[in-house]
Amino acid sequence: MPSMRMKFILIAAFAALSAALFAQEQPIRLHAATILDGTGKVLRNATIVVQGSKIAAIETSTAGTASYELGRLTIIPGMIDVHSHLGWHFGKDGHYQARPGTPAEEILYSAENAYVTLMAGFTTIQSPGQANDVDLRDAIARGVFPGPRILTSIRQLNERSGTPDEIREKVRQLKKDGADVVKIFASASIRDGGKQTMTDEQLQAACGEAKAQGLRTMVHAHSPESIAASVNAGCNQIEHGVLADEASLALMAEKGVYFDPNVGVVLQNYLRNKAKFLGVGNYNEEGFAYMQKGLALNAAMIKKAVAMPNLKLVLGTDAVAGAHGRNADEIVERVKQGNQKPMDAIVSATSLSARSMNLEKTIGTLAPGYEADLVALDGDPTSDITAVTRVVFVMKGGKVYKHVAPGGGRGTHE
Ligand SMILES: [Zn+2]
Repeated sequence: MPSMRMKFILIAAFAALSAALFAQEQPIRLHAATILDGTGKVLRNATIVVQGSKIAAIETSTAGTASYELGRLTIIPGMIDVHSHLGWHFGKDGHYQARPGTPAEEILYSAENAYVTLMAGFTTIQSPGQANDVDLRDAIARGVFPGPRILTSIRQLNERSGTPDEIREKVRQLKKDGADVVKIFASASIRDGGKQTMTDEQLQAACGEAKAQGLRTMVHAHSPESIAASVNAGCNQIEHGVLADEASLALMAEKGVYFDPNVGVVLQNYLRNKAKFLGVGNYNEEGFAYMQKGLALNAAMIKKAVAMPNLKLVLGTDAVAGAHGRNADEIVERVKQGNQKPMDAIVSATSLSARSMNLEKTIGTLAPGYEADLVALDGDPTSDITAVTRVVFVMKGGKVYKHVAPGGGRGTHE
């Protein structure tokens, strides 16, 4: 029988050996005909080498066997949606419900939305905020439950958030509560005409204090004056902008403010699911009439936005109940309606959106040192942009979450 001391030595040696083996875990090698790196570069016949959660190398020689032979597929970075409401869902009766259900029901609906979003190739989303985002964000970050990385504003600020001093205090509280971003409503909903609602002083307090706290700001603004007021208050990003004109687009470009128009998912989803929303709050016939008109306004606006030099267009959908998992439709419609170049649309949905969240050194680009967040598409999106809706392989942080045969694509989980 070995002595206690001997036992201890054996256990210690075994632990050291396991640690060494773990550290030298075999890399995963993914080979594909085409790789788009997210910054505009195209690599042909290349292999991405993943070690642990990160990309270790990208090899353009064919040497070495692939763990995943993705053949003629196209690999792009995991896509990013900077504006998705994971907590929105239809209720048990199939209708949208204004009142939340039990906490357990709510978090499970959010989790389902997170799952379908990841399966659609979106490995990071930013949520304009609800309280249970924090639990979902932290649960997914533990690495067991599948979902995209989540950034959240937890709550929102609007014209009823108080005096400038009270607003500053609310921003400081958001920082303490772990918010990643501050969401602000500077204008009414497009269903109510989209006019500026917060005063210039309220906006300056919100965006000024957020900056002082090291927090970014994303501002819901539809009308030109609400966009201008937000930009002039030093806010970082404008959401929606259905009524944005040349002058407000030029102002955002000039001040380096990110613009997140939503032209391909949200209104189409409301109109497709009209019967499920109708009768709740401003989801009335008048509101739907505004949204119907919004389609044409969006189509005109996105053409101007794409054509505006130096305007930093990021990819956000404003996905609500019914829209989760269809996020990539936004990319398709930016190209179709806005005449955006397919490669620019890919860059927008990957490295540029990462930059808008100060994550440009971590995600959104396929290069050594970056998180291994990547998806494979059935087709080449530079020649057929609808390939972004045919996601057949998803890896996030070096872990494979989806691998189906080409031809399946979105049909596999709808
Ligand atoms: Zn929204």
